[in-house]
Amino acid sequence: MTPLAAATATPFPTGTVLVLALVWSAGYLIACWWWPYRAHGRCRGSGKLRSPFGGAFRSCPGCRGTGRVLRAGRRLWSAGRDLTTRRR
Ligand SMILES: [Zn+2]
Repeated sequence: MTPLAAATATPFPTGTVLVLALVWSAGYLIACWWWPYRAHGRCRGSGKLRSPFGGAFRSCPGCRGTGRVLRAGRRLWSAGRDLTTRRR
């Protein structure tokens, strides 16, 4: 016999971890529904890439000049639907 049986009793049982993960995911999805965007990292949400000289800038290609990108959770949520669509 080995003392392995005692080692299986962990402070966080698998069930608790699963419930916590579910609660966290639900909260994250709700947050992604309510706040679907985050600031684009490359342009820091400004939508512009600044030239090192003068005040020149160009549209950020990563976010198409909007300065915002969909969060990963929201992208899952509305797979295929583009919230940044140009309205016509
Ligand atoms: Zn950008």
